[in-house]
Amino acid sequence: MTEFLTFQQRKILKEQAENLLQWGETRIEDIWLREAEKYNKEIKCKRDATLVYNNVLKRINEIRMLPTDYQNFTSENSNEYFKIEFINAPEVIIGRCPCPSEDKVLRCCNLATLDAVQQCVFDCAYCSIQSFYHEGKIRVIKNLKEVLFSDNFRKMIDENEIWHIGTGQSSDSLMFGNDYDTISALEEYCYHNENVIIELKTKSSRTDWIKDEHPLNLIPTWSLNAKTIVDKEEHNTASLIGRIKAAEKAINEGYFSGFHIHPMVYFDGYKTEYRDLVYMLTDYIDPKKILMVSIGTLTFTKNVLKKIRLRNFKTKITCMPLSEIAGKYSYPNETKKEMFSYLYSLFPQNWKDNVFFYLCMEDSSLWQPCLNKSYASNSEFEEDMKKQYFGKIYASKRLENNIETII
Ligand code: SF4
Repeated sequence: MTEFLTFQQRKILKEQAENLLQWGETRIEDIWLREAEKYNKEIKCKRDATLVYNNVLKRINEIRMLPTDYQNFTSENSNEYFKIEFINAPEVIIGRCPCPSEDKVLRCCNLATLDAVQQCVFDCAYCSIQSFYHEGKIRVIKNLKEVLFSDNFRKMIDENEIWHIGTGQSSDSLMFGNDYDTISALEEYCYHNENVIIELKTKSSRTDWIKDEHPLNLIPTWSLNAKTIVDKEEHNTASLIGRIKAAEKAINEGYFSGFHIHPMVYFDGYKTEYRDLVYMLTDYIDPKKILMVSIGTLTFTKNVLKKIRLRNFKTKITCMPLSEIAGKYSYPNETKKEMFSYLYSLFPQNWKDNVFFYLCMEDSSLWQPCLNKSYASNSEFEEDMKKQYFGKIYASKRLENNIETII
């Protein structure tokens, strides 16, 4: 029946068929038949075939536009097996976050990144790391401490500037705890470099790396999500309560911490579940020890969408409108505005007063309506963020001596 379609149209149908299969939705053959039956005649020419084709795409688009329905969806992970490989650090291990740096639309904090580990034992369906690193290997830098104290690294990280470096862009920062001395190396570096904040980002509940003596500029943070998303799309990760309790333990030992409620997903029942998340978080955690809460949502490049589509698992994570913004695909701004402003409105005033809230990699026009603040440029955002973080850290007893010289 598709013989009258062009090569390009058949290619698009094939991709959509793969999507529907991955989402556990009605097969494309059945949607096609249903649409064709509406014409009550055989498809004998290009015109009829194109009419049916357009209607099939319209039906699929309707599925994408609705809040994702997870109710009867059973997810599956890819069950990939990883081997750990210990490697010497490549020459450059400092990078920057994947936002387009000169972009005028997206607001970005210019986070520097440190790839201490590459690839992850967790299996979040939306993860670009899972899509990029292959060969079934997790690579751990074995000479991290040596590298951090090398002349080369010293040249890259100017001691007269203040730095915010994240290790969660190429892996989960705490999935191995301190099993391979990664955390010890970072701790030692933080002790000697008070102009640097190193942010660890995790979805694990491990706490065996926590020490009562630790540098205050090493910041463990947790990524949180609604229970349905944790259960159905963030495979092998710790439960929501497990993550919050791990954060509580770190905070009780004196660490500053933070949370990333990211990626928010627009699904049927999202309001109740994100509300429960905020209630749980604010119940357990004292905001005075929290540096940041970041909020963001799903954003894909074309390449990542393709890689997810071709992975052998069940997910509904790409079942969304995919509006284009700055070369990436996400929800339309109206949906984001609804989700982000709702989430922010749930936080009590003592959190809003004590914690730096920001939108991660989002359109600058969303800041004012969602967070009641905005920045004119990325550097203004970056400066304010660092000022808030360092201000809080230096105000605490152990590091207060240097505040004048650094900020
Ligand atoms: S925890 Fe982070 S790095 Fe690991 S799979 Fe999930 S998103 Fe990717």
